[in-house]
Amino acid sequence: MTDDTSPPTAPRTAADVTADSPFTLPGFFAALADGDLLAAVCRDCGAHLIPPRPACYACGGRTLRAESQPLTGDVITYTEVRTPPPALEARAPYTVAIVELDSGARLTGRLTVPHADAAIGMRVRLTTRPPDDDELAMALDNERDWPIHEFDPIAADD
Ligand SMILES: [Zn+2]
Repeated sequence: MTDDTSPPTAPRTAADVTADSPFTLPGFFAALADGDLLAAVCRDCGAHLIPPRPACYACGGRTLRAESQPLTGDVITYTEVRTPPPALEARAPYTVAIVELDSGARLTGRLTVPHADAAIGMRVRLTTRPPDDDELAMALDNERDWPIHEFDPIAADD
């Protein structure tokens, strides 16, 4: 019996692992395609795991719940990719950032501005879109429906 008002808890046995569980990549990406970024939040130590995992990689705890994360945060570091995978050669150089979301969860993703325009502390918002032809060319068969996530700067007047 599940309580629809409480967040999903981590699977404990193989039988609990279903494709629509947020603790699987298909379940995680299906939610992300709908604009819902999920983390597993560890009740023992507070770590946020994106994508969700059934056990905490910070403390080994098994009491985790899938919780929706804020889509906004701050760039904590960034770099420029000049030698991308061959399928993405045409878009290099591009910027990749580690962003700390407003919940404290950290997530790596492409930043939609040139390296020279990026800054530590820049406010950003996570967006998703379907993969384009270049991205589909390097996707595995089971990844073709997974959305691409990127961080857009939030203008000061937003
Ligand atoms: Zn933990």
